[in-house]
Amino acid sequence: MHRKTRHLVVILGDQLDPDSSALDGFDPAQDAVWMAEVVEESTHVWSHQARIALFLSAMRHFALSLRERGLRVVYRRLDEHPAASLTEALRADLAAIDPQRVIMAEPGDWRVRESLRTAVGAAGLERPDRHFLVSTDEFAAWARGRREFRLEHFYRHFRRKLGVLMDGDEPVGGRWNFDANNRGSFDARGPGLLPQPLRFAPDEITREVVALVRKRFADHPGALATFDWPLTPTQAQQALDDFIAHRLVAFGRYQDAIWTGEPWLYHSRLSAAMNLKLIDPRTVIAAAEDAWRAGRAPIEAVEGFIRQVLGWREYVRGLYWLRMPQYLEDNALAADEPLPGFYWTGDTDMACLHDAIGQTLKFGYAHHIQRLMVTGLFALLLGVRPRALHEWYLAVYVDAVEWVELPNTIGMSQYADDGFMASKPYCASGKYIERMSNACAGCRYDPAKATGKDACPYTTLYWDFLMRHEARFARHPRTALQWRNLSRLDPGQRQAIGAQAQALRDALR
Ligand code: FAD
Ligand code: SF4
Repeated sequence: MHRKTRHLVVILGDQLDPDSSALDGFDPAQDAVWMAEVVEESTHVWSHQARIALFLSAMRHFALSLRERGLRVVYRRLDEHPAASLTEALRADLAAIDPQRVIMAEPGDWRVRESLRTAVGAAGLERPDRHFLVSTDEFAAWARGRREFRLEHFYRHFRRKLGVLMDGDEPVGGRWNFDANNRGSFDARGPGLLPQPLRFAPDEITREVVALVRKRFADHPGALATFDWPLTPTQAQQALDDFIAHRLVAFGRYQDAIWTGEPWLYHSRLSAAMNLKLIDPRTVIAAAEDAWRAGRAPIEAVEGFIRQVLGWREYVRGLYWLRMPQYLEDNALAADEPLPGFYWTGDTDMACLHDAIGQTLKFGYAHHIQRLMVTGLFALLLGVRPRALHEWYLAVYVDAVEWVELPNTIGMSQYADDGFMASKPYCASGKYIERMSNACAGCRYDPAKATGKDACPYTTLYWDFLMRHEARFARHPRTALQWRNLSRLDPGQRQAIGAQAQALRDALR
């Protein structure tokens, strides 16, 4: 570096926000941005090739845009420096550059935050990440003194505070929650002709990254043949416009539906762009609200969508920072099974899992109900060690960043935090999947059966789960009703289900 640097602004792969607080007061004459591609971020969990390509390509596009704005950028490409980790790379450059201060926005990952704090020491200055609508301090203030946390309370409080979908002090449409209208599934004819989402064909930067990933991470899971994610703020805005114009209208109604071979349905595909901070959630929320105000989408679709972005997305981030690092170790149900190998290949005769995992490997994407009620549910019922499952979710989705993935996995889907996030476990039998999808029609198993050769493994494991956790949940006010179903089983059925569940576990180890 040829001149003395005042501030070195560290920008991480999930902080590609052109208006980042880390850039406040940036003086091109004295300051520089620092970005690095490092192997460890792709290998600490066995990352999907599309996830690696997404981060690297978006980072390169971002660095280019900063240079076009006249900012000095020190950019370390993966294939051009020897450091394996972020801290190693940063330490090497700090020794050479010797800035007065190192500035960054809050990292989205506890592990990264801790190691960067150690590497930078007293020279470091962390600024709140204003991408989020609710700061970590505001969340902590909301949480203080509450005996339990519930999304619904958080969501109403902040919708009111931020004036989203409000009519004075009342929710528009007279209700806060339209979930009851939003549980539709498709009939036997299926979803029909679906509006296909906008694709972003790889440009030269992306093609170069894809070639690099194929070479350096050849043994990593997933494929790159269909890689088409938005990688710049302009593309993220186009993806949002496309969703609002073509898919928002039916988002609510079909948000819980599954149809094999149809990965996108009416979902927005905006999570990766938002998590990399290519687009501001306020822009996303305002676009949805505007569509309702202009009569272009019904309230149940718009409320259902805004509940995800303003509600769940902000809520899980608050919970993450409140509970880390304990969250990583949580295992309230003492689940100890290894993750079945087919999670990495899709090679299973369970049609629902084959479809959800197959599409995950192909695109790095599955929608929420596939994550929660197919892959997550199976692991919950089987009793998979939560940390192993967490490492899988963090690896295989293009939108996976720990602050959002971990509470969803450990909390919502596995109940490993003992109800810190969700009031009860999301447990169900194969009948639920049959109701919400067409998978069972093409499966060799029967979702109605818990025992026998063609019994659905979900249904066997569901009853086994109820039996295994009877003492914990049978008297719990939120779960007693579900557990009361156990009284339908006689001792012989209990014994047969327990034995079949054990055989399944043995076969999957
Ligand atoms: P849409 O269905 O169109 O929803 C709109 C937006 O709402 C999403 O883009 C997302 O930003 C937000 N959203 C929806 N549900 C949630 C939620 N439960 N928590 C936080 N935000 C939500 N989401 C991630 O962004 N990264 C993850 O790593 C991730 N891991 C998950 C792991 C599990 C086990 C589960 C059950 C859910 C996970 N989710 C994660 C939440 C959700 O599944 C994804 O946000 C969603 O599927 C992304 O697709 P989309 O953009 O098409 O979402
Ligand atoms: Fe999945 Fe069971 Fe249905 Fe097969 S029968 S698709 S395993 S829920």
